[in-house]
Amino acid sequence: MSESDTIAYDYDVIVVGAGGAGLAASVSAAQAGARVLLLESEDEIGGSTQLSAGLLTASATSVQQSLGVEDSPQRMFQHYMDLNGWRLRPGPVRMFCEESSAVVDWLLDLGVEIPAQVSRSAHEPGLTRAGVEDVWRGHVPKDQGYGLVQVLDRARARLAVDLALGSRVEDLVIRDGVVRGVVLDGEEATAAAVVIASGGLAADPKLVRRFLPDAEIAGDALFVVAAPGSRGDHIRFAERHDLALFGQGWGLLLVTAEFQRYHHWQSGFPPASRINVGLDGRRCMDEDAPYAVSPGILKDQGGWVWSVFDDAARTGLPGGYADWTADRILEEVAKGVVLRADTLEQLADLMDVPADHLVASVDRFNELFVQGRDEDFLRHESLAAKGADPHLAPIATGPFFAVKMLPAELVCTHTGLEIDTRTRVLGVEGRAVPGLYAAGEAAGGVLGERYVGGGNSVAHALVLGRVAGREAAARAAALSPRVEEISA
Ligand SMILES: Cc1cc2nc3c(=O)[nH]c(=O)nc-3n(C[C@H](O)[C@H](O)[C@H](O)COP(=O)(O)OP(=O)(O)OC[C@H]3O[C@@H](n4cnc5c(N)ncnc54)[C@H](O)[C@@H]3O)c2cc1C
Repeated sequence: MSESDTIAYDYDVIVVGAGGAGLAASVSAAQAGARVLLLESEDEIGGSTQLSAGLLTASATSVQQSLGVEDSPQRMFQHYMDLNGWRLRPGPVRMFCEESSAVVDWLLDLGVEIPAQVSRSAHEPGLTRAGVEDVWRGHVPKDQGYGLVQVLDRARARLAVDLALGSRVEDLVIRDGVVRGVVLDGEEATAAAVVIASGGLAADPKLVRRFLPDAEIAGDALFVVAAPGSRGDHIRFAERHDLALFGQGWGLLLVTAEFQRYHHWQSGFPPASRINVGLDGRRCMDEDAPYAVSPGILKDQGGWVWSVFDDAARTGLPGGYADWTADRILEEVAKGVVLRADTLEQLADLMDVPADHLVASVDRFNELFVQGRDEDFLRHESLAAKGADPHLAPIATGPFFAVKMLPAELVCTHTGLEIDTRTRVLGVEGRAVPGLYAAGEAAGGVLGERYVGGGNSVAHALVLGRVAGREAAARAAALSPRVEEISA
């Protein structure tokens, strides 16, 4: 007797989590004709995806082609794997790169707007270069992550996917090695396939300590911007059901000043005329180095660096932000978080670095940036990519200030359920568990130590979500021929 003869499922597909990955999975499963139930633990959909800029990396897209950008999945794959030292699962990464173009077209068809125009930031719709990228691959949608979630949710509603808010899945139902559904409020809800799209673990401090120990470098300065639903439930499922995990120790920690508590959209930005120096008092990096690589550079300096600027830079900070404003710097001086001194030599003393090293570094900075060309760290290229003038004012007007820059803003985590090229979840022995799929931060094997480009994680959620939905619907169709393809 076949499985379909013996079991009547409540749904064809159950999706756990209504963020980017879960919405994408629900829509693609429903488009393939599946009856889908989408379960969300919080009172609203969207998760971290809704909070994001919605920036997504993708290759060989219609948007790139309209702007004359030559690209291919193979080129993206090579760059992605090289940047991550080939410490990822090549098969799933290849699938991610190959499916990325189709996901952009799919989103455009559903109603997402990504205009074919050059964008200079994650806030301007179009195509941008937001990180370490060999070609421009950052696609910025109109209305950012919120816009993506709204479009996907409208498609979900059109396709009659059932959505239950306030429904935190407690466990998976796995019998005889096969997924049968999930546990919710102590009751079982059954399905031929389950997609785990419950996001990351950033909001659970104990799991962060275990799976992203680098977050401890920031100490009390650590703050989490990921959505509150990022509780790492996929880790609990893995531990209960012997599922394999991949990506331990990896996640995205953004470099911020010790006094910052918000994402930079709210916090504001440090002054352009600043210099980052290591604990030896020497300049050690491009101050605008992409977030893919800056935490690693800091690690080589002992985990954090000093940022030094002058009073002209402080008073030139625009108002209206939560953290980086002229007055706030003075408040932080009063608290002892920002150091202030009348001369660079005195500041070096407070920072406990050799004064001649700091003075030499500032002299060199002033000499290079008056010409707008940073021979040492090539920062003029990073500034130019942002559309900023690489000619920076000298650091010369006392008093002078120094603040610690730490990897303190926790955005997302990369330890997920190990998947194969079809997003099927693997058991610890390496065999795919029939009927079980994962996507987004809950999936492991594609997100690595280095955050590639800008838009690595949203693309990962949407691409894997779409593939997982399709695969889950195909399994349900194989068990019950009633499932037929329909359009949104
Ligand atoms: C402020 C901010 C800005 C960012 N900007 C970008 C960007 O521009 N580009 C980029 O690539 N990445 C960005 N990121 C990261 C990116 O947004 C996320 O990594 C990605 O969107 C995660 O998608 P997801 O679907 O895996 O998780 P989420 O979008 O977090 O969705 C997971 C959902 O599952 C729910 N859930 C959790 N557990 C359960 C359970 N047991 N049962 C039911 N539901 C559950 C959660 O409540 C949540 O709604 C940003 C993140 C933040 C916080």
